[in-house]
Amino acid sequence: MSKSYGLETRAIHAGARPEPITGARQTPIFQNTSYVFEDVDHAASLFNLQTYGFIYSRLTNPTVAVLEERLANLEGGRGATCTASGHAAQQLALFPFMEPGAKVVASTRLYGGSITQFGKTFRKFGWEASFVDTTDMAAVRAAVTSDVRALFVESLANPGGVVSDLAALADIAHAAKALLIVDNTLATPVLCRPFDWGADLVVHSLTKFLSGSGASMGGVVIDSGRVDWHQSDKFKGLTAPDPAYQGISFAETFGDLAYTTHAHAVGLRDLGATMAPMNAFLTLLGLETLPLRMERHCANAAKVAAYLARHPNVAWVSYAGLSDSPYRAHAGKYLGGRGGAVFTFGLKGGFDAGVRLVESVALFSHLANIGDTRSLILHPASTTHRQLTDAQRTAAGAGPDVVRLSVGLETVEDLIADLDQALGKSGS
Ligand SMILES: *Cc1c(COP(=O)(O)O)cnc(C)c1O
Repeated sequence: MSKSYGLETRAIHAGARPEPITGARQTPIFQNTSYVFEDVDHAASLFNLQTYGFIYSRLTNPTVAVLEERLANLEGGRGATCTASGHAAQQLALFPFMEPGAKVVASTRLYGGSITQFGKTFRKFGWEASFVDTTDMAAVRAAVTSDVRALFVESLANPGGVVSDLAALADIAHAAKALLIVDNTLATPVLCRPFDWGADLVVHSLTKFLSGSGASMGGVVIDSGRVDWHQSDKFKGLTAPDPAYQGISFAETFGDLAYTTHAHAVGLRDLGATMAPMNAFLTLLGLETLPLRMERHCANAAKVAAYLARHPNVAWVSYAGLSDSPYRAHAGKYLGGRGGAVFTFGLKGGFDAGVRLVESVALFSHLANIGDTRSLILHPASTTHRQLTDAQRTAAGAGPDVVRLSVGLETVEDLIADLDQALGKSGS
């Protein structure tokens, strides 16, 4: 669908058309594993990647394909590959060009689960992940040496409320012939489109705002289609002949679709972290209302943040939408002046006050998720960030006094009243 249509129009229509046999207007759930070949030649051309079509749902599925086209369109990318979860998307994103000994640099400001994935599990594959504070450009420049393959950051960091300087980070990555990969989960394409600022790949956890109702897991990798895979010998996974596919080079054969074709034909084929058709359907439903929901999520969050900033038991509020936030200028540039709906604040009463607060709320749900229609609360130090060291916790903005909110779509006065009674009980 033409990118000249507005975001709201594309969130509803991109990638979808009435189902040709029945005319069904909503995208059907193709709940099937396999697809009949017309004849042996047709099968051969599918397996040789000479014809586009469906073979087996581990690789491609018609419902998932609609979601992939819609997400690529919303981000302004060339192609997309959906996965079973956001974490699967992060693994798939790196897979085409990583190998034992290859280096990737990630932000210290990532979601806690991502820090564990990069710092522990990826190292078991021999992928050498190191971390850098991506708000310190001199440190980033020193860390992204010419042997680094990718720099991985979040546009709006979970949970620290940090807005990344994407244009500056893209310049540093590109000077080292490395990719800039941006996790755009918290900002969503409504607030930020990282490809406009030089990102090469975008990943999302679709589990959050994009599906939006806390009902399904999912992830996606979106390719800008702009990377010259021949610019260095770091991307042989895409440039070298692949013996499984008659010795073709993906970069030469598929041009700007090389990465997305590889992600399906090799990544999903061998890693198998495929998205279920039902989850693709639920995410498509969520996307239809994404622009509308994000507007209200952000407006509610701004009011809740302003309330907390005035509360005597609250030491600080880290919300990029507040006028005194150090990230206000970056929010203006990268997020259209909005601060998103997930942010942190600190309690003067420290760890114990945080535990009491999450146990005293009635309307907020105490759980480890974000981006639901429902408002959610979490005390990271006692839950999601438990497995990190103190230094990692503090670097990730999840010290002992920190509470994270994901502000939902309820009546905002009800949310403020709930926090007010719970803060009264939690003490200072
Ligand atoms: C939740 C989340 C992830 C991981 O996604 P899953 O769908 O839970 O696997 C990655 N990055 C960010 C910013 C997240 O919020």
